[in-house]
Amino acid sequence: MTETITKTFNKINKEIGKAIADFNMIEKGDKVMIAVSGGKDSLNLLHFLQLFQQKAPIHFEILAVNLDQGQPGFPDHILPALFKDWNVPHHIEKRDTYSIVIDKIKGANTYCSLCSRLRRGVLYDLAAKMNCNKVALGHHLDDLIETFLMNAFYSGQLASMAPHYKTDKEGINIIRPLYAIEEKYLAEFAEANNWPIVPCNLCGSQDGMKRQYIKSLVTDLQQNNPQIKSSILNALRNPDTEFLLKPELWKGEIASSV
Ligand code: SF4
Repeated sequence: MTETITKTFNKINKEIGKAIADFNMIEKGDKVMIAVSGGKDSLNLLHFLQLFQQKAPIHFEILAVNLDQGQPGFPDHILPALFKDWNVPHHIEKRDTYSIVIDKIKGANTYCSLCSRLRRGVLYDLAAKMNCNKVALGHHLDDLIETFLMNAFYSGQLASMAPHYKTDKEGINIIRPLYAIEEKYLAEFAEANNWPIVPCNLCGSQDGMKRQYIKSLVTDLQQNNPQIKSSILNALRNPDTEFLLKPELWKGEIASSV
């Protein structure tokens, strides 16, 4: 490994360890399903959780799961070979959610929202069937920031993505060990390792205009403030509810400063 890649490795590894500890993501006896689409994020997730498993003082199981959604041209030979090469227990699930999405979404609308919803539904059901009590997803800091800004700008909500929560329907714990890591480090590490990447655009869709706008907005803001992403991360970690506007959060006392 070059010095730069060693630094990237250490950074990712440290942030994942901290995320797992801070949010009690993995405990003794867990069986963690790792959702692997084959993109750079999920391959990093799998790689680093495998390393964590080898070094952890507790015993837990992992199961890598890929959902083949029936997109035209999906290279279904890549992940089985990679799982075998990485010596990881795995399962490939074939469900044609692609046809459902094509059928339901008409015109210029993008597919991603329905596609991801269907994918999540299948994965969570599968986790319950395969006795996995946790599902690890590969969302990273850029995803959290974009979701946070999209919610604030378009939905009137102060919310991002939870690092660890439980689904109401299936009772499965969802964990996001990469939540504090910038996407660029994951891309760097995947590229340095020459991992075979399965693209997420085989369906011909693209992220919606709003998400593209938010992405470019954050990139523009970063020109003047290179620390903007870590600053937003810290803001999400330090909400001062006394200075927000929800009446239920008001403690009934007048705040002493503004
Ligand atoms: S790009 Fe295609 S496969 Fe990826 S989430 Fe969007 S609709 Fe689904």
